[in-house]
Amino acid sequence: MLIDGHGRSVTYLRVSVTERCNFRCQYCMPEKPFSWVPKENLLSFEELFLFIKAAIDEGITKIRLTGGEPLLREDLDRFIKMISDYKPDIDLALTTNGFLLPDTAMKLKEAGLKRLNISLDSLKPDIAHKIAQKDVLGRVLLGIDKALEAGLKVKINMVPLKGINDDEIVDILEYGKAHNIKVRFIEYMENRHADQTLRGMHGREILDKIKERYTIKALGREGSSPSFNYLLDDGTEFGLIDPHKHDFCESCNRIRLTAEGFLIPCLYFDEAMSIADAIKTRDIQKASEILAAVLRDKPKENRWQQEDGEVSSRAFYETGG
Ligand code: SAM
Ligand code: SF4
Repeated sequence: MLIDGHGRSVTYLRVSVTERCNFRCQYCMPEKPFSWVPKENLLSFEELFLFIKAAIDEGITKIRLTGGEPLLREDLDRFIKMISDYKPDIDLALTTNGFLLPDTAMKLKEAGLKRLNISLDSLKPDIAHKIAQKDVLGRVLLGIDKALEAGLKVKINMVPLKGINDDEIVDILEYGKAHNIKVRFIEYMENRHADQTLRGMHGREILDKIKERYTIKALGREGSSPSFNYLLDDGTEFGLIDPHKHDFCESCNRIRLTAEGFLIPCLYFDEAMSIADAIKTRDIQKASEILAAVLRDKPKENRWQQEDGEVSSRAFYETGG
């Protein structure tokens, strides 16, 4: 069992398999980074799997693959199958922008993937284009259809932005309702990599938009999830992730691993430790010791807004959000 320095049980590992992306979302990666991590610095699937096996043996029960865009990493279905074959009952999920799903959804399901979170910020082609800086909507919507056809459980993530897609909050909720998909609204999190002119919406502003159309009831947090659930008067459930509050930190159960082998104890915390050397030399004992050290140092609550007023330098596309 993995327990952190504040007594929290850690059961959830998020693995970012690449920082590269085929979108340039304004809130995440508006421009191609100055340089990508060279491919030779990425851990191979076999190397990542060595760590994942050890982490599962120590108590990880849920794994989410993310990125950058995880479907850009060649043979991702092979990696999914390695994990699924090792622990068939593992809760294995993926977060994707959906663009490559039309060609991959069935392969992912057959490899053992159970759940997908798909980012959908707009139902208007020009606004989706403006946010992702690419004409994406048609393929993303087709990708959602293909994922549902393949029998994957799907959730939608939307990041509402003032003056850009804030008039579509109810539309996205209704799209989810029509497709029997749960929608989760994520507060925009300021970071140094995003377009600095963006203005996000606070959780209460998102809820106010929904209240213009529906009566809503607060249900509460689902286990250790950062998402707070609400119910519409017609029985539809949706979630709100509002990290500007710290209230989900006390039950946080997650750690993150990047494609380069950095173990990150908290998304909103600049420190990390590398397991790359330990893994490359097959020293699993050493990797487990590093994991234990990272857990000891896991902060009590997120440090998004740092003491000096600076926002986090952590890039979402490196850590996988
Ligand atoms: N490329 C995939 C995608 O977009 O779903 C996976 C990686 S992306 C970094 C994971 C999630 O982080 C997405 O749902 C995205 O909307 C969210 N995200 C990225 N930047 C964000 C920001 N500044 N604030 C809030 N959420 C953000
Ligand atoms: Fe790419 Fe996802 Fe970041 Fe958009 S949010 S740029 S799709 S990693």
